[in-house]
Amino acid sequence: MARYTGPVCRLCRREGMKLFLKGEKCYTPKCPVERRPEQAPGEHGLLRPKFSEFGIRLREKQKVKRIYGLTEKQFSRYFERASRVKGVTGKLLISLLERRLDNVVYRLGFASSRKEARQLVRAGHILVNGKKVDIPSYEIEVGDVIEVAEKSRGMERINQSLEGLARRGLPEWLELDRENYRGVVKRLPAREDVTIPIEEQLIVEFYSRV
Ligand code: SF4
Repeated sequence: MARYTGPVCRLCRREGMKLFLKGEKCYTPKCPVERRPEQAPGEHGLLRPKFSEFGIRLREKQKVKRIYGLTEKQFSRYFERASRVKGVTGKLLISLLERRLDNVVYRLGFASSRKEARQLVRAGHILVNGKKVDIPSYEIEVGDVIEVAEKSRGMERINQSLEGLARRGLPEWLELDRENYRGVVKRLPAREDVTIPIEEQLIVEFYSRV
């Protein structure tokens, strides 16, 4: 299934929580979830529907897939990989998702959303260890240096986004040298580093039933 290209605030309203898909707007009172927290999208979406057990698990999977902006196929591949590794599958899944280059570019504050980060990466504005990497799914390792290409450092949207980083917060596993538009991966991200409410066990249960 293709990546969703419709209005993203609708996705947050569907999940009943902020998924932070729209950059700076997400941190202002203009966010529709803040204005009308109980309203699901659509003309008749005045009350949130009650979900079945299956529906609850499906929604959790959809929620995380949307946070990271992945297609169904990409997300299920991550799940397969996580389930092949020794450890707690749900936690490994979140850790793998966090290691995507587009996510790291977002976390470092070079972009105000993962979608914008993906565009920056694809357009060749991001270097990893001194070399251009234009693959959003590129997986970072400990010690990797992620930076904005020199020619792109004057871009307004990158600088604006960096200004909003104080509000969003830099995760502990990353280090940022803001002056030089450069970040370093201090350690791999763990499940505990992701503060947005996710019940990853429900995703594991979802895939064990389909
Ligand atoms: Fe829209 Fe962001 Fe609010 Fe979600 S969190 S509803 S994307 S403004």
